[in-house]
Amino acid sequence: MNENVTAPLRARAEIDLAALQANVRSLRAHAPSAAFMAVVKADAYGHGMIPVARAAKAAGAEWLGTATPEEALELRAAGLTGRIMCWLWVPGGPWRAGIEADLDMSVSGMWALREVTAAARESGRTARIQLKADTGLGRNGCLPADWPELVREALAAQAEGLVTVTGLWSHFACADEPGHPSIAAQLDRFREMTGYAEQQGVTPEVRHIANSPGTLTLPGTHFDLVRPGIAMYGISPSPELGTPADFGLRPVMSLKASLALVKHAPGGLGVSYGHHYVTPGPTTLALVPVGYADGIPRHASGTGPVLIGGKRRTVAGRVAMDQFVVDLGGDEPAAGDEAVLFGPGDTGEPTAEDWAVAAGTIAYEIVTRIGSRVPRVYTGGDHGAGREGAGT
Ligand SMILES: *Cc1c(COP(=O)(O)O)cnc(C)c1O
Repeated sequence: MNENVTAPLRARAEIDLAALQANVRSLRAHAPSAAFMAVVKADAYGHGMIPVARAAKAAGAEWLGTATPEEALELRAAGLTGRIMCWLWVPGGPWRAGIEADLDMSVSGMWALREVTAAARESGRTARIQLKADTGLGRNGCLPADWPELVREALAAQAEGLVTVTGLWSHFACADEPGHPSIAAQLDRFREMTGYAEQQGVTPEVRHIANSPGTLTLPGTHFDLVRPGIAMYGISPSPELGTPADFGLRPVMSLKASLALVKHAPGGLGVSYGHHYVTPGPTTLALVPVGYADGIPRHASGTGPVLIGGKRRTVAGRVAMDQFVVDLGGDEPAAGDEAVLFGPGDTGEPTAEDWAVAAGTIAYEIVTRIGSRVPRVYTGGDHGAGREGAGT
């Protein structure tokens, strides 16, 4: 809604749904024979789960993927149709709600298989499950030694009509490090483990292992479906692999704030908590009204970049909970002028990747942590996905 875009908000994250949809199409072109799962966990990496899910589906994503069942159930409750998969379960479920919402539910071990079959029995419906193999990430998933039991028991439950095994899947540890030996080792193990399950009688609709770097750079990992997250948001999964533009991607989120104050300051003035910055001489200071409560990393104190009045500036001193200060070196923009913390980067503004470097983290964490106090404002997109306007 365009009136929101120009509304005088303290701060806002503009979400360019047209860029998101172009990224989905671009990623599809990298994996033309695979189905596409738009990963929208963690509030779509901070971009707003429901509008992003709608826009991704309108751009051709057949599947939506979340970590938690609660996220997946929220998608269903918002009216999203088609396949929705979620993979981070703990004992207690909610398996029954997942069955009733027609979710594809990941099962990584025997406790989960027991709980999902019990819930299926109670509800009188068949649960869709996908067996997750730990092929070498060493995190969630079933290790090779435990795989025969899980496959055998899943097939037994399927024979009883309690479950349908719709998929076999896994996740990479180092797909963003080209040539890392674990990539080939994980692929070999994935082929062995899926091959074993299929020999035993599993007929998966989809076998999948590719995240963003796999989708973009490792065609041999595409199998039947790809699961990109970060790349769909226009951020390179690994800056060493290439820039977003190198992959035909465009950053989706721009973070902007209105200057709360611009003032003349003398030299020798200590700025913000701890006085880690002291003005070197008479200057002007601008107050940017966002802080670590809004997801601006405190680790970017003294290093975070921001575009004000067409010039790149740096956070002066500590990032506080709600605000930080920038030394403008005598420039005098008006209070209310725009500060761009990050965006696509093509009009001189920093990118989320620049903030990641400044804070010693990855761009995934920068966008995902933008706080709920920052309204999301939707622009672009070809089907009115932004009709809810601000808020997440
Ligand atoms: C988050 C996640 C993805 C997406 O990863 P990206 O690196 O953002 O592409 C894919 N699969 C699983 C299991 C995930 O948890």
